[in-house]
Amino acid sequence: MDLDGVGMTSRRTRERLIQRLKDNGIKDQKVLDIIRVTPRHLFLDEALSHRAYEDTALPIGFAQTISQPYVVALMTELLLSRGPLKKVLEVGTGSGYQAAILSQLVEQVYTVERIKPLLNKAKERFRQLDMRNVTSAHSDGGVGWPEHAPYDGIISTAAPEGVPDELLYQLAPDGLLVIPIGSDNDQELRLIKRIGDSQNYDEEVVEKVRFVPLLSGVTR
Ligand code: SAH
Repeated sequence: MDLDGVGMTSRRTRERLIQRLKDNGIKDQKVLDIIRVTPRHLFLDEALSHRAYEDTALPIGFAQTISQPYVVALMTELLLSRGPLKKVLEVGTGSGYQAAILSQLVEQVYTVERIKPLLNKAKERFRQLDMRNVTSAHSDGGVGWPEHAPYDGIISTAAPEGVPDELLYQLAPDGLLVIPIGSDNDQELRLIKRIGDSQNYDEEVVEKVRFVPLLSGVTR
């Protein structure tokens, strides 16, 4: 795998992406720094890797997409908005890019994906990049990952129609859930905060987004 080739030559392209994220309102310097140094081209098929530092979602096969860098930055910034996190669950591993960003900002990342071949590719990338604090599984994340709960933060990169109760129940006290909610053409990103150790939650609509739907069950 080309660990730096494209990355080295695209230094200015990467810098342009970071500037764009800043212009669009991303403020967390740690998040910007991690996006700058993370080789997004390694999370794409070679035919698309030349577009890796454009601020756009791109296809990764199986009708799925790697999220737009701005959306990755925004969701990560929101997730970290109450301070540093130890344990985070991601629903929808996809290419593994969002998990790779998180792995450099939190202690432990758990991530689940329902499409087996996508998960296998992502796992290979975690290995090659030596990301040892990422643990992944082939499963339906609509029910979270109860074995490792509670989580200080949960991020879903696929959109259900409504907030799954299981994800709320797997939040630690003061835990945060960042999740797109809605149907195909009408989704909003929500930031949900558990209030202390109660079963009460603060909910905030952040902005309109467009994610693939959260589907139930797994595929081989
Ligand atoms: N975070 C990914 C984004 C991938 S798109 C990245 O950085 O590349 C969202 C992913 O969620 C898809 O791969 C899709 O297969 C997966 N997904 C959808 N419903 C799911 C579910 N119930 N459980 C686990 N993964 C799911």
